[in-house]
Amino acid sequence: MSKKKIVVLAGDGIGPEITAAAVEVLKKVGETFGHEFELDYKLLGGCAIDKFGVPLPDETVAACKASDGVLLGAVGGPKWDALPADVRPEKGLLGIRKALGLFANLRPAVIYPELADASPLKKEVLARGVNVMVVRELIGGIYFGPRGTKEDGKVAYDTEIYSEDEVRRIAKVAFDLARGRRKKVTSVDKANVLVSSRLWRRVVEEVHEDYPDVELSHIYVDNAAMQLVRDPSQFDVLLCPNMFGDILSDEASQITGSIGLLPSSSLGTEKAGLFEPIHGSAPDIAGKDIANPIATILAAAMLLDNMGMGKEARAVENAVGAFLSDGWRTPDLGKGKQVGCAEAGRLIAGYVHA
Ligand code: NAD
Repeated sequence: MSKKKIVVLAGDGIGPEITAAAVEVLKKVGETFGHEFELDYKLLGGCAIDKFGVPLPDETVAACKASDGVLLGAVGGPKWDALPADVRPEKGLLGIRKALGLFANLRPAVIYPELADASPLKKEVLARGVNVMVVRELIGGIYFGPRGTKEDGKVAYDTEIYSEDEVRRIAKVAFDLARGRRKKVTSVDKANVLVSSRLWRRVVEEVHEDYPDVELSHIYVDNAAMQLVRDPSQFDVLLCPNMFGDILSDEASQITGSIGLLPSSSLGTEKAGLFEPIHGSAPDIAGKDIANPIATILAAAMLLDNMGMGKEARAVENAVGAFLSDGWRTPDLGKGKQVGCAEAGRLIAGYVHA
């Protein structure tokens, strides 16, 4: 029996519905595999503004730092859109990412055969199997480099900048992940043009020396964008600097077809990572029990993986697969046996087996 402390930040909009469904699944994992998950519910985003006047209360930060992992629903909504930027819900999200030192963003893109019709790619391309993990460096590169304007605003610049240490730590995340997958890392850069990319490539190769069991290749970002739609089955782990990862992770998620299916995780310098769906708080469907909880349930699977519970994580992924192949569908997934958010959570929990 192992005991783990998980902070649940349900947030706003559909956040409470989708996290409740994921918690249902986590409870079933606990019963099935003999773990105790201590759940600590804290506020983030609009709900925190309503109660405390700030989007990220100190007690939320303290609880997250002391936890083994954080499960987040989503934050934001029209109710808080008119507030000044420093007290908006999104500020809370940026704040918690910073507080946990989250430097690695992981986004898997997997195609379920049952939902192949939702993908814009041709069936014969999908038939080769799509299971890509985009590993994006999150707090370095051009989004954080020196920037400014000159000549009275007629010229503007941003700077792509990476240190060896920044590249080393994200490369390690990618190689470690590849070991639990198909043992292939493809590192994305633009080393034919950018000096920073040449440093990136050199350091990735140095880190690779500690992972002789993992295959490493390099690809220019323009070619990566093309190959992702031509034949995504060739990729296992795609290791990217911040801006290239920002763009390629959106491209990778679109080839799977549905926003309600995709989880993401962010890992950092603290023990606790942050695990969330890639979609927002969907205020248009909040409170109607029609949201798709699968992205959040798969985020919970990533959380389990990060706590060293690989077989438990696979059991959750398999449960989602079984739910879909038995024909169950939330409204966003189209035709099939229709279920709401809460019922989908109960059914998926029921498919969890040791
Ligand atoms: P959104 O992702 O919330 O919604 C886009 C569309 O997808 C909507 O039609 C919505 O109904 C649908 N959708 C999203 N998730 C779904 C699900 N699980 N099941 C079924 N349908 C789903 O994006 P938006 O409308 O641009 O933003 C709404 C709010 O969410 C804004 O306040 C925005 O700032 C916030 N937001 C938060 C996060 C986050 O918390 N990480 C991310 C993006 C947007």
